[in-house]
Amino acid sequence: MKIQDDNENYRQLCFKCMRPISSCYCKYTAPINCGIKFVFLMHPKEAKKQRTGTGRLASLCLPESEILMGIDFTKNKRLEELLNDPQYYPVLLYPSPDAWTCSKEGFKETIQGKKLLAIIVDSTWFCSKKILRFSTNINSLPKFSFTGNYKSIFTFKHEPQEYCVSTIETCYYLIKELQSTGIVNKEISPEPLMTVFKQMIKFQLQKENDRIEGKLPNSHAKDWKYTRKKEIPNF
Ligand SMILES: [Zn+2]
Repeated sequence: MKIQDDNENYRQLCFKCMRPISSCYCKYTAPINCGIKFVFLMHPKEAKKQRTGTGRLASLCLPESEILMGIDFTKNKRLEELLNDPQYYPVLLYPSPDAWTCSKEGFKETIQGKKLLAIIVDSTWFCSKKILRFSTNINSLPKFSFTGNYKSIFTFKHEPQEYCVSTIETCYYLIKELQSTGIVNKEISPEPLMTVFKQMIKFQLQKENDRIEGKLPNSHAKDWKYTRKKEIPNF
């Protein structure tokens, strides 16, 4: 697959991660057969941009996952199919006072041996709110949120809410917390999610620095956020 970039050069793209072959992330991924079906909902505007959501990256490690695009998902056929499939117990990963957590008694009994269908809105805070406002079918699902408080290692992304973890970290912590309840097998390692995420962070920071040093064309505004070189973490 070839795609024209901003500088009108054609680049060879990897089909799986949609990255240029030279910086394909697939080599850092590994399948995690955790028995959860993840569904990532993306705003169509954001689906084109690589820098927002990490859902696509997460999907590389989660063999059964699906990415669906839209704003109003009440009319999304595939989502309706999944929500009506009796093999799944759908939950929306979203904080709410009445959300299920792993510390609440009875979650395992509630899902009655069904496969968890974990729906994650893979968008910026602003677009997520919009998707949820329109998509009453998702907003009315049982919600699930974390017991632990996690901070994102996605340091160069500035979410309005600092507690926001990225989509890929959400998948990682969900698997970990469900392991504590026995819903996900403890033998399964969710680490490939973090491994590929860290590689992506390092790659993006390096690219930012290359822009600042003039090695890459600079399309950013000339404010301090984009002119100060970033420290590349050593993980
Ligand atoms: Zn790839």
